[in-house]
Parts: sequence; C-alpha cells; structure tokens
Amino acid sequence: MGIELASRARLAPLEEGAPTVATLCSHSSLQIFHGARQEGYRTLGISVGTPARFYDAFPLARPDSFLTVPKVRDIVHEVDRLRAERAVLIPHGSFVEYLGPEAFGQMDVPVFGNRAVIEWESDREKERVWLESAGVPMPRRYATPEEVDGPVIVKYYGAKGGQGFYLAKNREALRDFRPTGPHVIQEYVLGTRYYVHFFYSPLSDRGYRVGHGSLELLGMDRRDEANIDELYKLGAQEELLRAGIRPTFVVTGNVPVVLRESLLPQIFDVGARIIERSIELFGGMVGPFCVEGIMTEELKFKVFEISTRIVAGTNLFISGSSYSDLVAPGLSMGRRIALELKRAQAEGRLAEVLS
Ligand code: AMP
Repeated sequence: MGIELASRARLAPLEEGAPTVATLCSHSSLQIFHGARQEGYRTLGISVGTPARFYDAFPLARPDSFLTVPKVRDIVHEVDRLRAERAVLIPHGSFVEYLGPEAFGQMDVPVFGNRAVIEWESDREKERVWLESAGVPMPRRYATPEEVDGPVIVKYYGAKGGQGFYLAKNREALRDFRPTGPHVIQEYVLGTRYYVHFFYSPLSDRGYRVGHGSLELLGMDRRDEANIDELYKLGAQEELLRAGIRPTFVVTGNVPVVLRESLLPQIFDVGARIIERSIELFGGMVGPFCVEGIMTEELKFKVFEISTRIVAGTNLFISGSSYSDLVAPGLSMGRRIALELKRAQAEGRLAEVLS
C-alpha cells in the first residue's frame, strides 16, 4: 500500500457507484473528456455561462452533461451537486488559476492527484525550495542588481503569461529597470526551451521505478510565446523597445518537439528527483506534471518552472506522441488519467490517487 491522500469521508460518494470525470470547460478539457470517454467514464463539463458551442463540433469529446455556473467562483456552491454526481475533479491550469488555489484546495469533492501540491506550486519561493532541495539544476538567482554578471530576466510574483517580465542583457541595462512590485532577478538562460510532460503513477509496479510507483514520459512541446518568439525578426530587444513594445511571453499555442535521445537520462533524472522530494515534503505528487526548462549549448537542462497538473501542451497528443506511443498506442494524457482512476478503482486504491 502507498500513501493515502484522501479521507474516507471525502471519497464516500464514490462508494455508491462509478465516478464521473469532471473539469472546468477550458484549457485541456476536450482532451480530458475524450480520454475519460475512451475508458468508459461519464463526463461532466463545468461551464461558466452557456457552454461554448464548439463542444458540439467535437462529438468524441463533448461532455455527457454540463453544470453551468454564473462565475467560476460559484463552483464552491455546487459541492453537493458534484458529490451527488460522484464527480472526480481533474485540475488543469485554468481551473486552479481561475477558481484560486486556495478555494480549489478546499473543495470537498474528490480531486485527481494530491491537492497538497497546490501550496508548493503556487508560491515561487516554496517551489524553489522543493526543486533546489531535490538537486534539480535551476537558473541562478541574484539577491541584488549589483551581483548581476550576465543577461537576466526579472519576474514579478504572480505575473500571468510572463506579462511585464523585464529582460536585461547585463548589469548596465538593468539600471533602467524600475520595479513596480515584488520580483526576482534570475539568470536569463540561453538555450532551447522544452516543456516535458510526465505522469507519475503511485500504483504502477513496472517501468521506470520511482518511489513505490513509476514515472512515465508522455510527450514534449515548446510554447509559442508572443511577442518574444518573433523578436529575432526585429534583430534585438532594443528594436522592440524603441518601437515602444515591451516583450511579453503570453502563450499563444504549442508545437511538438522531441529531445536528442542521449539527453533523456537527464530529463528522467530531473523528473525522478522532483517526485522523490515531493514524497518527502508532502506525500507525493500524483498524475500529470510538466517540467519546464532550457537546454543550454553545454547540454545542461535548467528548470525555470514546473506545472503540477496537466498542461495545455498535451493537447497536441490526443492520439499519442512520439513518447506515449511507446508506453501504449494512442495514449493521451487525458486517457492516462482515466486509466489510473480505473486501476485505482479496480484495486480499491482510490485514496492513493485522489485527495
Ligand atoms: P514562467 O512564468 O517562469 O513560466 O516564464 C515564462 C516564460 O519566460 C518561459 O516560458 C520562458 O520563455 C521565459 N523564461 C522564464 N525563465 C527564464 C529563464 N531563467 N531564462 C530564460 N527564459 C526564461
């Protein structure tokens, strides 16, 4: 038996019958519903206002039913209905972000994965403690502008989509920077970005073993970030600034990537360290997570961020990726979640994957 994350009371509704896979209609919901349906689950879409018409265009992904709320925050008033539906909530970036990490963490409805992770991810300081103490290589952090000895990226706390991030190519350039709130000064890592989609199964007893379970690599993407990804066409950041445009990293889409095979050991090592430390710190992260880092020309992977739930980049791989096809043909992250739920149900181990 592994670590139990959920109390009996929390999981009581699931003793009455099969769970319903539920999530907020946004982000990666099509994939989540599609994967759940592939494994025979009923699906429930939580929609803010009238459900978007585009769900009708995707019959294999459209949820079986909708729960409509006037505002995202109203979801907290629907706990009884969700429990009556035997809902298992699947967290995704927008769901946690829009509802608020605290409100999401307190919902008395079973959630896929360990909700204790929210506290460790939503605070950049705690996240750094977790990753650094796991021995994961990260960009250097400068305590003061005087220490800066190379290009830096200044990040504001809670900045969405990197909006307002400030880039400086050296200490001199940083002199013009006038902070407008709490921020960190971080080494700007030159290299290629990779967003690595992992799944950690505490139930699995085969494959790449980590803790009591195993770590799976299901895909990889790179995010298209406007307007910074187009910057090279203008030559340099100064050009953009001269034109009165601030560089932003607002994500507009995703492209699939694969990594040189010889770099996979490094990537698995990072994933395994993150999981092992999460087990020590808060009972372990369960299910999908994404390691976001930059591979330098010295072939060293530096991690600038992790997402502790399904990321939208997995939407590329609804019918499988170059990696997930080697785990099971046509395996999406959404379907992987449903498979884990199914196995936990069959083995009476729901408390190990739900919280
Ligand atoms: P974040 O909010 O930390 O996910 O960062 C948003 C974007 O900023 C990332 O997707 C990267 O493109 C870029 N970025 C963040 N940290 C760094 C870094 N240390 N070096 C270079 N680029 C970074």
